[in-house]
Amino acid sequence: MQVQDRLFIGGEWVAPSGTDTFDVVSPATEEVIARVAEPTTVDVDKAVAAARAAFDEGPWPRLPVAERVAAVRRLAALYKPGRGELAKIISSEMGAPISFAKLGHVAIPMFMMNAFAGIAENLEWEERRPGFYGQDILVRKEPVGVVGAIVPWNMPMHLTIGKLIPALLAGCSVVLKPSPETPLDAYWLADLLTRAELPAGLVSILPAGREVGEYLVSHPGVDKISFTGSTAAGRKVAAACGANLKRVGLELGGKSAAVVLDDADPAAMAKGVQVAGLMNSGQACVAQTRVLVPRSRYAEYVDALAAMVAGLPTGDPSDPSTEVGPLVAQRQQDRVRGYIEIGQKEGARLVTGGTDLPAGVDRGWYVRPTLFADVEPSMRIAQEEIFGPVLSVLPYTDEAEAIRIADATEYGLSGSVWTADVERGLGVARRVRSGTFGVNEAYSMDPAAPFGGVKASGIGRELGKEGIEGFLDSKSISVAAGR
Ligand code: NAD
Repeated sequence: MQVQDRLFIGGEWVAPSGTDTFDVVSPATEEVIARVAEPTTVDVDKAVAAARAAFDEGPWPRLPVAERVAAVRRLAALYKPGRGELAKIISSEMGAPISFAKLGHVAIPMFMMNAFAGIAENLEWEERRPGFYGQDILVRKEPVGVVGAIVPWNMPMHLTIGKLIPALLAGCSVVLKPSPETPLDAYWLADLLTRAELPAGLVSILPAGREVGEYLVSHPGVDKISFTGSTAAGRKVAAACGANLKRVGLELGGKSAAVVLDDADPAAMAKGVQVAGLMNSGQACVAQTRVLVPRSRYAEYVDALAAMVAGLPTGDPSDPSTEVGPLVAQRQQDRVRGYIEIGQKEGARLVTGGTDLPAGVDRGWYVRPTLFADVEPSMRIAQEEIFGPVLSVLPYTDEAEAIRIADATEYGLSGSVWTADVERGLGVARRVRSGTFGVNEAYSMDPAAPFGGVKASGIGRELGKEGIEGFLDSKSISVAAGR
């Protein structure tokens, strides 16, 4: 068992202020794999003070952009050789199948680091505009200050890199709060940060629960909160930031739709929906768990989806052939099984899966990949984020109805359309209200493209140049003409 008795504050490993610890438990074996020192609010104060000093007096925000870019490239180079180890760490702490961990959890953040570095190099940091009254206007992009970054357990490194690197490139300092389920990958990154020789105080990492998160959100020394998590928590974070007029970015929940048009090939569609709906064992904010299927070919598409879901290798996440691993925690297993019961009580048709454990499994927080058909848009399983391997098929009559159903939840994060006719697919993509959408692909979080939600899925954008701009404010300097 790994013991982590130090905290990472201001770029250094220091003794915690308290004596409490928490355990990291393997979702596959239910055994304790690590014991980690629990930070207190005193530690948050220290981390914010270090970040404040790094921002207010340190070199980082004042460095030429090229030097911040070079530091990020150093970090990316240090990250690369450790990828295999990192994939194992993430798979062991939150249960992701190792094949998905290698790609989605580990490789993509590395591409993101290099992509962000390139974007920062090409961003217009200062721009001159002719003023309306004849004066010269200089518009400068300046860092927002100290950032509190809060991430969930489901894609811990991916979401961390999506906040940390743009914030650093912008010139900010960062206090990162990972979830208590996933401290180990965050501490792996902490080690890299020390080796990348960033200035003192710039980054602190305090894995902890909700209370520490709330304290960080309300801390007067923090200028911006960048939050990823559930919509329920996001509402509280937004309210706390509103009270202090603190800047806030919110990446929240989803209940996205995969719209299958009547010309889609059933087998190819089902393969695509596997990724779109069930990646990371269904624990993805962008998961397209409502599959909207035309009544004209309903049985054919349901059969293709049933064959896909029933055939998914489910079990030991360290087995490279596993497609669906355990869920992160027992509470998540209970929650997902609860939704399967709700679906049955609501009258949806259970096509495959259910509440019993997958064959051959006697421990671990597994749920069988499950498919419901004949789901009505008003049912709870069609409205609420389940966050597990459960898909619902909803029939529709024409494209207008498909779009109405796709939009008929409080969320608007992602979605996809499956069709032989890309132009027809683009027509659907343009009409659905969501922040992202894929045509014949599960929406991939491309570092070049802004990512985020509309409606209850969030406020603001990460990734792309918009992701860096989220950590910048525009300052206008007006120089009087002729003086
Ligand atoms: P959660 O909201 O319970 O927790 C997320 C993080 O916020 C954790 O670090 C938690 O400790 C912290 N937290 C919780 N309440 C807080 C509060 N009041 N103040 C400050 N911090 C608080 O969510 P979860 O169950 O860990 O993660 C799953 C959720 O995250 C899902 O709803 C999923 O859709 C969402 N998510 C969204 C995105 C996105 O980019 N839109 C990405 C991944 C996950």
